[in-house]
Amino acid sequence: MALVTTTEMFEKAYNGGYAIGAFNVNNMEIVQGITEAAGELNSPVILQVSKGARAYANHTYLVKLVEAAVIENPDIPMALHLDHGDSFETCKSCIDGGFTSVMIDCSSMPFEENIKITKQVVDYAHDHGVVVEAELGTLAGVEDEVNVEAGKESYTHPDEVEEFVTRTGCDSLAIAIGTSHGAYKFKASQCTRNEEGILVPPPLRFDILEECIKRLPGFPIVLHGSSSVPQEFVKIVNQYGGNMPDAIGIPEEQLRHAAELAVCKINIDSDIRLAMTATIRKYMAEHPDHFDPRQYLKPARQAVKDIVAHKIKNVLGSVDKA
Ligand SMILES: [Zn+2]
Repeated sequence: MALVTTTEMFEKAYNGGYAIGAFNVNNMEIVQGITEAAGELNSPVILQVSKGARAYANHTYLVKLVEAAVIENPDIPMALHLDHGDSFETCKSCIDGGFTSVMIDCSSMPFEENIKITKQVVDYAHDHGVVVEAELGTLAGVEDEVNVEAGKESYTHPDEVEEFVTRTGCDSLAIAIGTSHGAYKFKASQCTRNEEGILVPPPLRFDILEECIKRLPGFPIVLHGSSSVPQEFVKIVNQYGGNMPDAIGIPEEQLRHAAELAVCKINIDSDIRLAMTATIRKYMAEHPDHFDPRQYLKPARQAVKDIVAHKIKNVLGSVDKA
């Protein structure tokens, strides 16, 4: 099977109460780890490429790596998606360059401007058989200065979603309900601590999600910033020379619940980075005489495969949905 768009994936996911994992790819080992897991579990998958990934690895290398994964996993529906396209030009170059899905993220712009640019991308994409994800509301990140109470204005306003989707014609919509990019999603002041002293983040705003679903019945919703930052990896990183204090993510059971609702795409990037880094740090510490990159990249690739398999089984629910 060639690369596909997300249209059929999302339709089945919506009706089946599961979500498709969208994993960021930057190099061969990550592409292999993700797609081997999807292949073995017979799960559809979205491979997504950010602007930073294109700058790091080069557009052509990434497209060809993904095409290789398609050849190696002929029975698995795979989409190649641009993550956080920041302009019409970036989206156009991915549409022209073999992607089957693009995101245009004008969520930081005023509503009318967001509609205008998103519609421009949608018109071009649909003419070329490509689908478009747009965003309303802005996610907090590690730089964000506001706490949850004061930051309410960055959540998606459900009363805007219907007009936005109707006027832009976008195929899926990323909304902000309290997820956040990166491994440092929340400040300690936003959280409580459990008995082990680990931060517990504020719960996702399912009330906002429910309101959006009411206004957009049957329409695929996307969650960004949905890594869970497994504490066992943070511990390994810190044990072997790293320093990641108070790195936390979104609890997996909340994401699982979102996947059962209208959330059809869940973006996971930090957990893959963390799994690789923890594995490599440990390997390096335990084998100070090794210098062949294959020696540490092989367990790192296995770590990617293991974490993706875990997500497919326990968070996304997409086993055997290929
Ligand atoms: Zn994102």
